[in-house]
Amino acid sequence: MTVYFIGAGPGDPDLITVKGAKLVETCPVVMYAGSLVPKAVIERAKPDARIYDSASMDLDQITQVYTEAHANGEDVARVQTGDLSIYSSLAEQTRRLDALGIDWQVIPGVSSFQASAAALGQELTLPEACQTIILSRASGRTPVPEKENLKSLASHEATLCLFLSATLIRKVVRELSEVYPPHWPVCVVEKASHPQQRILRGTLADIAEKMHAAGIRSTAMIIVSKVFAIDDFVDSKLYDPTFSHACRKGRVVEENKDAGADKTSLEN
Ligand code: SAH
Repeated sequence: MTVYFIGAGPGDPDLITVKGAKLVETCPVVMYAGSLVPKAVIERAKPDARIYDSASMDLDQITQVYTEAHANGEDVARVQTGDLSIYSSLAEQTRRLDALGIDWQVIPGVSSFQASAAALGQELTLPEACQTIILSRASGRTPVPEKENLKSLASHEATLCLFLSATLIRKVVRELSEVYPPHWPVCVVEKASHPQQRILRGTLADIAEKMHAAGIRSTAMIIVSKVFAIDDFVDSKLYDPTFSHACRKGRVVEENKDAGADKTSLEN
């Protein structure tokens, strides 16, 4: 018997992995976080599967479901939003399971920061201009360690994806404005991959007002990055004709080629 922690993806029921979907289809017990995982994701469950919505349950009640399934020898599909590596409460659940001697496994999912980048049609790294992505949140009711404060994260000028921060946008803008100029680009994606998806594009100067006007207060990804404003970036090395790597030999670009002689060595 195993508890499978399955990343459900950001909302679109087709964005769960094939492996995750198969487990939802076959496990006799399915538990999902009803606040963020759409019902369509768990409609794949067997008609006689026991379905639990964890939205109104506490950790003890959730652990109780795992314990009962363990006693019955029944696998559990535990479906949570996005990917389990980010703000998922995976660690506190698996700590309980380890203490109880119950096996568990994690099936990754598409995170909402990835779905937001897809909705924006934006690569979050650009050759030479930006090579790092920071995933974080503003500190609110849930504290963030002082060393991870937004001002210090911003000092890297990396792409910054902020989860769980929509209601704290004014604080976010205040802190980032200590490092960045007012025209620094900020995009917000609400409900990425859902039918109700909305996109706001703005800057530090106007994004809080735009979010307020649109009434965006939850299920939103805030992406702060210069990549939104850079279009003169260089081409990557990956497809550079003169660059060699494990899968492809670079072509020698000759300026004065002998007529008829092919001096290139392009493979594939
Ligand atoms: N593990 C999840 C994150 C859970 S924390 C993941 O990998 O995506 C919940 C936060 O995720 C929300 O406050 C919001 O910031 C973000 N989020 C979740 N679903 C989203 C969606 N469809 N669109 C935009 N942001 C989303």
